Amino acid sequence: MENQLHARDRVGVQDFVLLEDFKSQEAFLENLRKRYQADLIYTYIGNVVISVNPYKNLKIYTSETIEQYRGVNLYELPPHVYAISDAAYHSMKEERIDQCVLISGESGSGKTEASKKILQYLAAISPYSSEVGRVKDKLLKSNPLLEAFGNAKTNKNDNSSRFGKYMDIQFDFKGSPIGGHIINYLLEKSRVVHQCKGEQNFHIFYQLLRGADESELERLQLTRDPANYRYLNQADISIIKNLTDKEGFQIVKEALKVIDFTSEEQNDLFAIVASILHVGNIDFKTNNGGVGLVDTKDVEIVTKLLGCPEDALEKAFRHRSVDVKGEKVKTLLTLEQAAYARDALSKGVYERLFSWLVSRLNTALKSKKYLGKTSLLGILDIYGFEIFDENGFEQFCINYCNEKLQQLFIELTLKSEQEEYMREGIEWEPVEYFNNKVICDLIEEKHKGIIAVLDDECLRPGDVSDMTFLSKLITSIGKHEHFVCHEMSDYEGRKEIGREEFRLKHYAGDVTYSVLGFIDKNNDPLYRDLKEAMSLSKNSIASSAFPQSEMACKKRPGTAATQFKTSLNNLMAILLSKQPSYVRCIKPNDFKRPADFDEKLINHQVKYLGLMENLRVRRAGFAYRRNHKVFLERYKALCPDTWPLWHGSPQDGVLKLCEHLGYKPDEYKMGRTKIFIRNPQTLFATEDQFQH
Ligand code: ATP
Ligand code: MG
Repeated sequence: MENQLHARDRVGVQDFVLLEDFKSQEAFLENLRKRYQADLIYTYIGNVVISVNPYKNLKIYTSETIEQYRGVNLYELPPHVYAISDAAYHSMKEERIDQCVLISGESGSGKTEASKKILQYLAAISPYSSEVGRVKDKLLKSNPLLEAFGNAKTNKNDNSSRFGKYMDIQFDFKGSPIGGHIINYLLEKSRVVHQCKGEQNFHIFYQLLRGADESELERLQLTRDPANYRYLNQADISIIKNLTDKEGFQIVKEALKVIDFTSEEQNDLFAIVASILHVGNIDFKTNNGGVGLVDTKDVEIVTKLLGCPEDALEKAFRHRSVDVKGEKVKTLLTLEQAAYARDALSKGVYERLFSWLVSRLNTALKSKKYLGKTSLLGILDIYGFEIFDENGFEQFCINYCNEKLQQLFIELTLKSEQEEYMREGIEWEPVEYFNNKVICDLIEEKHKGIIAVLDDECLRPGDVSDMTFLSKLITSIGKHEHFVCHEMSDYEGRKEIGREEFRLKHYAGDVTYSVLGFIDKNNDPLYRDLKEAMSLSKNSIASSAFPQSEMACKKRPGTAATQFKTSLNNLMAILLSKQPSYVRCIKPNDFKRPADFDEKLINHQVKYLGLMENLRVRRAGFAYRRNHKVFLERYKALCPDTWPLWHGSPQDGVLKLCEHLGYKPDEYKMGRTKIFIRNPQTLFATEDQFQH
């Protein structure tokens, strides 16, 4: 019986546009489930790949598979990230159009794995030479290095990226990679000093402790056991995997070697990682109305490891200098402030270390002088929409980022659809869709948006708190249709919103944010005396990460939200200048389990990835389009005039074929290079004839 079932009933359709009931989310899910159960984790919506994390190793990434996909038209083989990588690569190489692949999805859905598969595919199919080989090695090794410093075990993913990443690969005219450039976004630095239950700090800390040899540990004055360090022992130490950390460290070392880190750089790098662990162990006590160190040992080790001036750190933990009308005044720190300053230092140092690492990688990936025209292919692996039980400043930034990406998606998909119809000379009626620009504006608009209100409050002298920020927000944007707070008597759900919360109606759903911590996280203060101590360090990485010029500069650095806004807008400009492809990743269950398709969870993701809308837009025009030649090749056997050989132009051949198949005139349109078919049923019928 099973054999007699049509393939479509058994394993679903490989492109959602072929779904008969394309408006039904149930039908969508059913198709996804069928395919997932048959280990077919990829499905298209037109040129968008939907990927469902299999949580097991499938044999679909072998070198044979790579060979299979190389240079083959997108729809001729089963859907795969290789297929869109190949299409993007060829479009870049042959049509000289810069490309970008945008990967989105929630934590644990498979974004980073997808980005690695794409990079591996490109490295495998592009021409080889020894120089190019070196570039490929460096590009590939940048991943384990950044993952060691930027990824951590979370409750959602054992290898969760705690930063956003955009990587451009530069190709010469032959299509060989000759360089690359990485931009990082918003590292979750709070993890350095605090982790939630069941979670861990960044991998590198454990890797260093477990993997370094005795002499290196001695140099860094470290002991192997994570339990000895405050920043590591809040986590559940029993879950720490000894073996992989040890291996992980070797992988990091190997990557550092391939990327040509000098031994001095490597020493400086690990001296900083070690220093952070020592800083974390500093304890304070009250002392003569101020604070003192419980034990000077840790500060001494840090001072030595980083080559900071004697006493500079110790003093900086006791008092802070502030400018009062142009004069430097020292005030004593309280116990609470000292502990705050200690953690701020660790977070600040780690964040700058990470940025230094990215810029050091960029130096290594910078292409040699090349006179010909180069093309770019970018890969964006960035955090997906987050709705937790409690949402704070970080979720606000991440969800803002997703609004921007959705905006780009809308603009680019609709724009490119429209452009394709124009190019092909086909009439098209624009479709209605929800444009989320109104939400982007609500967040980022100059002088009026949420970020502007937050910045104003951060800069305002006097009694500023998270609650004064919230009340400013309510006064200035309380009436916005996408903003809700507890004061709104006419809003049904207002009882669910606390006094310290506001809710945004995002395109992907409602999210309630607690304002607690917004002011502090946005100001992101690191006391000047600590910065100064770092800038005087003999450690080359520390001193370049805390440049003297920054100390001299009187101007306040931009707030965290504004810096993020600027970097996002730069990213949008980069992406807008390129031809996009999309990978939308879905996480099948919360248990990292294979073959477990949790419908509720997936439904939710289908909704906030905007997949139904994506499908609707794709279907509003012509569901199916193929190059004349490809279409003719596939179906020519169905018409005596075109079989076995057709001597005229492919376009005329397709016309003949369509007449013979009895296509009605409004069902299809002939474009300049492609045939467009409005309704997938038309194609089903043809495909069925073909298979029988
Ligand atoms: P985060 O946002 O937390 O960084 P992510 O979307 O980048 O999450 P990944 O780290 O790519 O998620 O994937 C999580 C885990 O799922 C991987 O470590 C791997 O075990 C498994 N996984 C993801 N994609 C695949 C795949 N194609 N084949 C096999 N396993 C996969
Ligand atoms: Mg990731």
